[in-house]
Formats: sequence, structure tokens, C-alpha cells
Amino acid sequence: NKQLIFRDYVSGFPKESDMYISTSATIKLKLPEGSTGSLVLKNLYLACDPYLRIRMQRIENPILFTSFTPGSALNGYGVGKVVESGHPDFKQGDLVWGTTGFEEYSLITETQELFKIHHTDVPLSYYTGILGMPGMTAYAGFYEVCSPKKGEYVFVSAALGAVGQLVGQFAKLMGCYVVGSAGSKEKVSHNHPQYACIIFKCFQLQGRTRLGCSPEKYFPEGIDIYFDNVGGKMLDAVLLNMRFHGRVSVCGMISQYNRDPPEGITNMINVIFKRIRVEGFATFDYYHLYPNFLEFVLPLVREGKITYVEDIAQGLESAPAALVGVYSGRNVGKQVVAVAPE
Ligand code: NDP
Repeated sequence: NKQLIFRDYVSGFPKESDMYISTSATIKLKLPEGSTGSLVLKNLYLACDPYLRIRMQRIENPILFTSFTPGSALNGYGVGKVVESGHPDFKQGDLVWGTTGFEEYSLITETQELFKIHHTDVPLSYYTGILGMPGMTAYAGFYEVCSPKKGEYVFVSAALGAVGQLVGQFAKLMGCYVVGSAGSKEKVSHNHPQYACIIFKCFQLQGRTRLGCSPEKYFPEGIDIYFDNVGGKMLDAVLLNMRFHGRVSVCGMISQYNRDPPEGITNMINVIFKRIRVEGFATFDYYHLYPNFLEFVLPLVREGKITYVEDIAQGLESAPAALVGVYSGRNVGKQVVAVAPE
């Protein structure tokens, strides 16, 4: 049973050398004698989600996330097939998405974070993205947190990522004017019908050229909704360009995950002056809406009204490079690792 193992907690940007693939550990594919409520999962797809970086550090006082355990397989979201079950709600052959391990087979003892997959006429890997946690994040973060209205001015950062590409499409479907930002010329030059334009992002990653930031150029009348995936200087520049009673959905702060201490925000006072609602949210709080979300998004996917870009790396051996790439923007679309054939 191959596993992805981190040698220790990570500081700064994660490196491939922080991890290795172990083949020495063995997991019995038999459930322990008499165990009820557990199951063995064969992992098919694993999700390289940015929040994993937060879990790669030692977390003294956990609020939302706990640290992973150095020396054991990283856990995270994935799609798998039940190969053995001691749980009354799951049977052999069931397909599920939810929390599993970065390994070929996982022994799952806590099943409350597993969702059964009932619709298989769409790619199974979508349950790591559009039909899984990132999809729910875009859905809850846009419709529930931003309270969007037709014709509003919407800005999305990391606009072509797992979450951002959906927020852009949801906003377009709603009749909003949408601009996105992305981190490479290659990403900007793709054809993205959901966006009025994609701007090369204002503040570049370490080691790349820093460009001047000018959201006002694309929003002469200001921004009603900012869906923030990156935080930091981008958030600061956007705050200055928000309209009165604007809403900022604080989804993620990937620009800060590898920084200690984080960069300061100087334009926060605009939140008061302009009565902007800045709201942080955690997707987990909205999982009760998952059935509504599927009912909403599946027909759109089937009719081709929403499309989804994935970046699929083959084999668990490719997981270290795939994971590291998310923090430098190497992924084009949702970064997935395909572990085993379906
Ligand atoms: P993506 O698929 O968008 O991948 C991450 C992208 O972030 C990269 O491709 C890159 O895009 C950008 N990026 C990477 N490093 C930096 C950096 N240092 N500074 C600025 N941008 C950077 O990820 P997701 O769509 O899965 O996640 C987007 C955000 O949403 C993350 O911050 C994540 O933590 C958050 N999130 C929050 C949830 C919640 O419950 N609140 C749930 C799920 C995700 P580019 O090259 O275009 O800059």
C-alpha cells in the first residue's frame, strides 16, 4: 500500500523533498475482526486542496483544522470505492467522496465525512472538484455569503482554480459583470467565456515580477462583490475599489499560507467607510445544502452550461509535485491525482 508521507511539519513554501512515497507500510485489506462502522476504501482520485498547507504546520490551538501527523499518510479529500465494509450504510462496490488518505487503500473509521456517489454519468474525478468540496465552496460562498444580484460588478481572484472557475460561471449565469485574475500569461490567454476579462494578477508570487495593481481600470464604477481566494495585497487593493454596501466573501488566503508573519492589510478602514460586509466562511457549515447544490449544478453540467477544467496528474508518485504546484500556481484548473484506474 503506497502512501504519501511528510517527513516533518513544513515551514515556508512546501517542497517535494518534504515528502516521500512509502511502500513499506502495509494495510490489511481485511477489516479488523469484529469492527463495525468502519470500511476499507480503494482510492481512485485525490484532491490537492490549498487548505492542506495549513495542516502541514504544527497547530497548537486548532480552530478549524488540526495538524496532520508527520510520518503517517496525509489525509484529505478524494474519491474511492468501498472494497470492504463493516458499516450498515455502505456496501462493497459503493463509490464515495470525502475525507480519505493520500494512499492506495485507506481504512476509514469515521464515515461522517463520506458522501455516497449516486450520479456516475459525469467524470468521477469531478467529486474532488465541481461536485465535491470546492464546488460546494463556490456555491455557498457566492450565493449564501455574497447575496448576488443581477448586473452587479464581481471580481474573483485565483479565477481559474477549482473554486474560482465556478464562481465566475455562477456570476455570469446570474447576469453579473465578472472580471477574474490569474497568475500566469498562459492562464490569462485561455478562452474563458464567463469572464469579461481576466487580468494578470496584481501581486506576483515570490520570485516573479511584481506588476502594479489597478482593479479600478477594470471596474471604473467599483466592485460590488469580491470573491477572495488569495487575501494579502490583492485584498488590500480591492478594498480600496469596493462600492458602498459591497460584500467580500473571504474564502481563502492562499497568498499567506506560506508566509510567517502574514503581510499586512492597510485598506481595512474602507470596510467601515463604505459599510462593506466582509464575511469568512467554512464550506463544512453549508454541507446540509449539498442536495440542493447537486440539483442545481448537475443539470448545468449535463447541458454543458457549466464546464470544469481539471489538471490530472497520474499516479501517487506524482502527488508531491502536484501538491507543491498548487502553491506556485502551476495547476491549470482543479489539481487532482489519479491513483488507480476506475
Ligand atoms: P486553486 O485550484 O485555485 O489553486 C490555487 C491557486 O491559487 C493557484 O493555482 C494560483 O492561481 C493561486 N496561488 C497559489 N499561490 C499563490 C500565492 N502565493 N499568491 C496568490 N495566489 C496564489 O485552489 P482552490 O480553488 O481549491 O482554492 C482557492 C481558495 O479557496 C484557497 O485559498 C483555498 O484555501 C480556499 N478554500 C476555502 C474554503 C472554505 O471553506 N473557506 C474551501 C475550499 C477552498 P493563479 O496562478 O491564478 O494565481
